[in-house]
Amino acid sequence: MRLASLSSGSSGNSIYVGSDTTHILVDTGCSKKRIVEGLSKLDLSLDDIDAIFVTHEHSDHIAGLHTILKKHDIPVFATKGTIQGIRTSDKKGEMVSSEFHEIRADEKVSVKDMIINPMTIMHDALEPVGYRISCGNKKFGIATDLGCYNDYIVDNLRGMDAVLIEANHDVRMLQTGPYPYQLKKRILGEKGHLSNEKSGELLCRILHDNLKGILLGHLSKENNLPELAYETVRVEIEMGENPYHGNDFPIMVAARNELSTVIEV
Ligand SMILES: [Zn+2]
Ligand SMILES: [Zn+2]
Repeated sequence: MRLASLSSGSSGNSIYVGSDTTHILVDTGCSKKRIVEGLSKLDLSLDDIDAIFVTHEHSDHIAGLHTILKKHDIPVFATKGTIQGIRTSDKKGEMVSSEFHEIRADEKVSVKDMIINPMTIMHDALEPVGYRISCGNKKFGIATDLGCYNDYIVDNLRGMDAVLIEANHDVRMLQTGPYPYQLKKRILGEKGHLSNEKSGELLCRILHDNLKGILLGHLSKENNLPELAYETVRVEIEMGENPYHGNDFPIMVAARNELSTVIEV
């Protein structure tokens, strides 16, 4: 089973998860071109994609969806609220309804040999979710765009082989940075985005001996730096109340505009 980010950050998000026989995308928030390029490096094309799962309707998660659906008949799975949000943004009403499949948090969906579990996340969208995706005994967890986490999220992300977790901003960079006050407040709020520190704290609660990879994603371009996200999370793991050291797990930062390290388990 493989996990890779094709594009990550406030300018567009798309994640690939695949087994030998099944290939899915979580979000298509960047250009179709970028997705095609990323997939080709994985020896895949959009024709191989069995399903698209959407986390929520913000444009950095759906911007490429329309263009992809024009040429490719790929089923799209999203919560009722997210489908509503996508429809609202589809002003010309060009997206065909038959392609959308409604899902609910905590109700599994199977796509060939994969099982996808949506989980509710705290974010300022209509009905946002993260995903736990498994194939046989392998499991990946994906949680971006969450202002905070709770025991429910932690439970959902326990026992994963690899995770892609948001490390959106450095709190100090955000506070002293150029964003207007209201936007800062939104990002720092309970329905905003996870800071590097909170990302590290969440990770501390889900670490286990068999966790094979941590991919940090959705980094803010203005309020974060890859090295800072990496180092802050590493230090949180080192200092946190857990038996592990910062270097015990491979921690990688998903690149903004290109294919990330591919995690294979
Ligand atoms: Zn969002
Ligand atoms: Zn986002």
